[in-house]
Amino acid sequence: MQVFFDEDLIVRYGGRGPRYTSYPTALQFNDELTADVYRAKAKESNDSDVPLSLYVHIPFCHSLCYYCGCNKIVTRNEERVARYMEMLYREIEMQSELFDRKRKIEQLHFGGGTPTYLDKPQLAALMDHLRASFTFDESDEREFSIEVDPRTVDAERIRELWDLGFNRLSLGIQDFNEDVQKAVNRAQSPAEVRALMDSARESGFGSISFDLIYGLPHQTVESFDKTLDTVIAMQPDRLAVYNYAHLPQRFKGQRMINAEDIPAPETKLDLLHHTIDKLCDAGFIYIGMDHFALPEDELVLARKNGTLQRNFQGYSTHRQCDLIALGVSGIGGIGNMFAQNSVSTIEYEEIIESGELPIVKGLLIDDDDLIRAAVIQDLMCYDSLSFDDFGARHGIDFREYFASEIQKLDVLEKDDLIVLSDAGIEITPRGRLLLRNIAMTFDRYIDLEENDNRFSKAI
Ligand code: SF4
Repeated sequence: MQVFFDEDLIVRYGGRGPRYTSYPTALQFNDELTADVYRAKAKESNDSDVPLSLYVHIPFCHSLCYYCGCNKIVTRNEERVARYMEMLYREIEMQSELFDRKRKIEQLHFGGGTPTYLDKPQLAALMDHLRASFTFDESDEREFSIEVDPRTVDAERIRELWDLGFNRLSLGIQDFNEDVQKAVNRAQSPAEVRALMDSARESGFGSISFDLIYGLPHQTVESFDKTLDTVIAMQPDRLAVYNYAHLPQRFKGQRMINAEDIPAPETKLDLLHHTIDKLCDAGFIYIGMDHFALPEDELVLARKNGTLQRNFQGYSTHRQCDLIALGVSGIGGIGNMFAQNSVSTIEYEEIIESGELPIVKGLLIDDDDLIRAAVIQDLMCYDSLSFDDFGARHGIDFREYFASEIQKLDVLEKDDLIVLSDAGIEITPRGRLLLRNIAMTFDRYIDLEENDNRFSKAI
């Protein structure tokens, strides 16, 4: 289905709201979810045949990209890294004791920070620890991905990542324009990235994903167009194009960016509009929520055959796994529980040193949360929802259960974001760029009238 860029609607709705990589979102987490509760629930989860997924957070970076809003530590202090790795190993050990070895790790994701900050022996040792503690799915079906900062690797290291068992790569590109790169302190040439792509393809990597950002200092539609040309010529399988949010009060590094160099809101809209048109004209399919993929990519196929999922990494093709998070700030999801590790590296390390899991908050979700999470997932993955099918799958009468939400959809229908019928909800090409505003109708933690979030400005 196409996507239609309606500037008036985008300005009015603003695209603000949760990204719904989980529901409920992390804003609802509280400290009643303790390590004891986590252990009990994790052990209980072994009664199911749900496979496992691992997320490993490596917070270190060599230098600061000024736009960054991630949980990271910019350092070259090897002792600091060594201490973190030692604590991470202890956490791996504690977590692995909770899960049956018969449950395979079908998905693995290394995020950061910069996972490729770790050198070859460090990454190999980490993978050895994980393999010794859990049962890896070694088949081609596995989805083992790593975020790669192109400045930290060469073609040889890409081959090493393949040899370690990774079969997916995500490359942080952002923009190839030199002025933009200088203004955000992140220089990497197309030639370097092309060499990595060649090595990745030769090694056998499947879905290779690029991250781009629009709204960075000095970007113009003309300059970003050239970046898009370069990117399209490299044919990554997937693309994520994120909006830069300038929040210097919250992210200190952003104070290095001169606010006057940031494109005006109208230019940002033009950048987004142009990017969508250009990528779609070049044959990419808009998946939803800033994500694009080539027609033969698994994400597109999963969207067609009903196996697309939304999770903490964005979109995925794998069936729902229980997710174990390792490392500072990691968020896991086991059964009906979310659990988050401390976001402070110092606290994270202290808790582990005391012999405890570093979980500081989370949430036990109830049946209503699960139903709402399924509604949001269907809308974000498939742009449609059949009341009868959904009701049959979840044992509810949808029209009755969501009577008040269905009423609130009226305003979205009047704006042509959705078509509401007796049979269900269809998201229109206009509505596809405002998925989160549509999903928010089913979020019981957001009072739409009180916050009027659907009409707040973000761009
Ligand atoms: S964008 Fe990535 S590499 Fe740059 S500072 Fe943030 S986490 Fe580190």
